[in-house]
Amino acid sequence: TELKRIIAPTEKTVTFADVGGLSEVKKQIHKKIILPYQKPSLFQRFRKRVGGGILLYGPPGCGKTLLARATAGECQAKFFNIELADILDMYIGESEKRLHTVFEQARNQSPAVIFFDEVEAIGGKRQYSRESTSSKLVSQFLSELDGFAQNNHGVLVLASTNVPWAIDSAFLRPGRFDRLIFIPPPDQTARENILNILLKDRPIERNLDLASLAKITSGFSGADLQNVVETAIDNAIEDSISSQEDVLLSQQHLQQAMKEVKATTIDW
Ligand code: ATP
Repeated sequence: TELKRIIAPTEKTVTFADVGGLSEVKKQIHKKIILPYQKPSLFQRFRKRVGGGILLYGPPGCGKTLLARATAGECQAKFFNIELADILDMYIGESEKRLHTVFEQARNQSPAVIFFDEVEAIGGKRQYSRESTSSKLVSQFLSELDGFAQNNHGVLVLASTNVPWAIDSAFLRPGRFDRLIFIPPPDQTARENILNILLKDRPIERNLDLASLAKITSGFSGADLQNVVETAIDNAIEDSISSQEDVLLSQQHLQQAMKEVKATTIDW
């Protein structure tokens, strides 16, 4: 059952519409990843090489995981979100077995997207990777990837890292994580877009000025903005209780919450 928890595909489907900003990245993913995946014979006809994994890198909380999940959603593929920590913290021999099971399950349930968060835990240069990472595990991971490079079996491999400079070059070779995509912190337009997504289906006041909120949140990641919205909602709920009325989420709630949340992408 422990193993089941690690490799169970995630149920909730999200698509690119749920990801704010990143329009260039979405286009690139569509062209380079989704199309070859959906139309392999077309690419074959032009002798265009496909396959290999994609490494998403950038500051924390800016949508790497969300984008990976949405890529699966766009392909109507199952999404396997693999916490490497869960795999690495196993007895010797057990982690190899689990890693193999992950790839095997994905193949059996294809189309599938496997996502490895914080891949430096296994693919990092010595000082960044986990102590528990044996060289046997690393070479197994690489050979599983190489297997997909020959024939992707309807499985797409994505990974993410906040420390791209830490990734061992063996992981970046052709057929492995040979495509790197930078996921930047959201700019003003993207922040407004993200706020709109986060506030969708919530009881909000009409005429909220999200543009001005986007303007004053430079340095905020998507996760920081989510934090702002959640805090604002907590306050609106509190107001509803104390006033015994159906309070709507207001500009004031958001403005106040913004002061309580710190921007985290500043030093990346
Ligand atoms: P980490 O490097 O810490 O794993 P990450 O880049 O994978 O971070 P996510 O897990 O994708 O970040 O983002 C965390 C949450 O922040 C998301 O679940 C989502 O609610 C919100 N979020 C972040 N970026 C965006 C975005 N571009 N559009 C909409 N929501 C976003």
